Amino acid sequence: MICTHSKNYHKGIKFCTVCGAFLSSSGSKTIREQEFLSELHFSPKDVLNELRDLQRFNRFSMSSPYLLYRKVLIEWIFEIGESLNVKVLTIHSAIYIMDTSLSTIDIPVVQYQGVALISLVIASKCEELIDDALEIKDIARFTKIPYNRLKQIELEVLDSIDWRAHRATPLHFLEFYISVGCVFDSDTIKTKDKSKAVRNVRKYSQFFADLCLQESSFLVYSAEELALSFIASGRKVLNIEPLWSSELTELTQTNLNLECCEKMYSLYSQQFLG
Ligand SMILES: [Zn+2]
Repeated sequence: MICTHSKNYHKGIKFCTVCGAFLSSSGSKTIREQEFLSELHFSPKDVLNELRDLQRFNRFSMSSPYLLYRKVLIEWIFEIGESLNVKVLTIHSAIYIMDTSLSTIDIPVVQYQGVALISLVIASKCEELIDDALEIKDIARFTKIPYNRLKQIELEVLDSIDWRAHRATPLHFLEFYISVGCVFDSDTIKTKDKSKAVRNVRKYSQFFADLCLQESSFLVYSAEELALSFIASGRKVLNIEPLWSSELTELTQTNLNLECCEKMYSLYSQQFLG
């Protein structure tokens, strides 16, 4: 879908006030998927500022012994989250809570599981509808850690994240940029079906988000840097040119982190292209 509500801007902010589409100064229009457009409850600019503000609280230690166990815990959390039908965004948020928490708290390795499960409970309260939010009783059956100890761990985790349960993960930024548009009618797209290309950029970007979440070496980048690299990597896989357009620079107010983008593309090549 292309925004046709032209000249309907917030003053000084280049998003359409009707549908939220990013309006580039070059006049190139974003192409978006109809089903991913929702009613505008907040200005896109405010949403982006809020995410940028929140991402400052993602603090990870790259020397924590926890990193040795991280991959196994992440696979486990994905399995449990999927069995409990929580959103992918909840799982990503839970992992960011776990990463921040286990980077700082001193807890025996055998109780890492408890932190992972509690992180899922906390994330669900922020990302799921109120009725779908998890309680400790929903996750207690996945561990031998006693219920009362899980309740203590919940307080320890909340303390370790300064009670800031809302996290800005790369997937949050990605969802934002997909919703305002990150493919333009001025892009060179090899396939004739442009809507399909837009859908595939979203799917590949989400795939890169899952792929990079599992690799702790990507924790050195900010959530937004990662999200922009997912989009660029998705565009690269689909041969959309340019990799990073002037419209994307204008929208994101930044250039792509090429090192980050190349690192994730080479991870993808190694694992999937042989
Ligand atoms: Zn519009």
